[in-house]
Amino acid sequence: MTSERAKRFPLGLEDLVREPRRIEGRPGEVRAAALAASAALNARQQPAKNSPPGSAKKTQAKPPAKVQTQPQATSQAKPQVKPQLKPQATPQAKGPMTAPVSSPVNAQAKSQAKPHATAVAQGAAARAAPKPAPVSKPAAKLNERTAVPNVALNGALALTSERVRERMVERLRANGVTDQRVLNAMSVVPRHMFVDPGLAAQAYEDAALPIGHHQTISKPSVVARMIELAAAGRALNNVLEIGTGCGYQAAVLSQVARDVYSIERIKPLSERAKTNLRPLRIPNIRLHYGDGRLGLPSAAPFDAIVIAAAGLDVPQALLEQLAIGGRLVAPVGSQEGQNQVLTLVERLGPAQWRESRLDRVFFVPLKSGVI
Ligand code: SAH
Repeated sequence: MTSERAKRFPLGLEDLVREPRRIEGRPGEVRAAALAASAALNARQQPAKNSPPGSAKKTQAKPPAKVQTQPQATSQAKPQVKPQLKPQATPQAKGPMTAPVSSPVNAQAKSQAKPHATAVAQGAAARAAPKPAPVSKPAAKLNERTAVPNVALNGALALTSERVRERMVERLRANGVTDQRVLNAMSVVPRHMFVDPGLAAQAYEDAALPIGHHQTISKPSVVARMIELAAAGRALNNVLEIGTGCGYQAAVLSQVARDVYSIERIKPLSERAKTNLRPLRIPNIRLHYGDGRLGLPSAAPFDAIVIAAAGLDVPQALLEQLAIGGRLVAPVGSQEGQNQVLTLVERLGPAQWRESRLDRVFFVPLKSGVI
């Protein structure tokens, strides 16, 4: 990993070396699972770089760090007319700040003031404080079958092993998920490591589970569906997730996209996600603490945006940070949950978006501001 890349994706690696791991739950098991999962994730990322999801990029060949620049979305995103979300759209945006999870809140709210019939979009540039280069561990050759200490694989860990995930993946396939990259990603990300140890036994059921602060980890089927819709078979470079929660979906996204940015508005959850992700040593996730309704102008435009919480509309700032040709997937509808519809928004041009309303879903609310 280049130091440039390390600056952009500081998640964890040097921390791993410097600090003892803080893994909750049954230490031996979870550590073994982390090692195995990290290995599987890394092993999976290698081929991914040479095949559809990552083919456009090599890990080493990075453009200048976008995340440290001023918003770039503005060059393509100053619609003077109401964005044409079809069949209906009432974009709206508010809420002021994003900030890297690894540094103090550094909001640089910067109005982009997009004239709009119903809303004014505001942007915020989150500055990433560069961190020292992560230290890569030689984990790429490991995999969950061969590299985990034998002892740790016994007993309860079997519950959370690859086979259990494979069964989950078979169910996803049976239920219509066809993108092999998504299925592969779902098969390597250890969902049990993103929930409380007491819920680990349910981690591979198709259920949303509590992650604290009145939030939930999304159902595997919903995670897979959203990512499949967002990707639509394309190689994804830049992806933004709104609503990191425990970090699970970001981890799945990291397997199908080159760079993943994820924003969470609840500080302890953002920290929790960081802790959850650290042992997995995923190099291409960047977490931000802030109001995701503002997006992340400094890293835009995004090939895909996935919103993991339901708003009454899709925030204008996010529409504008979508690359032309990009796809945004979001639950849209009332926060009581009865009328939420998974919605796909495709950006067709500088001021043209197309909306398709797809599945009925149930998500926690998309809220403004940070706590
Ligand atoms: N992506 C998660 C799902 C988390 S639940 C997964 O992997 O399962 C949705 C999350 O969205 C919650 O953690 C909630 O706090 C967060 N959220 C809601 N409104 C937000 C906003 N405006 N900005 C960022 N995060 C938000």
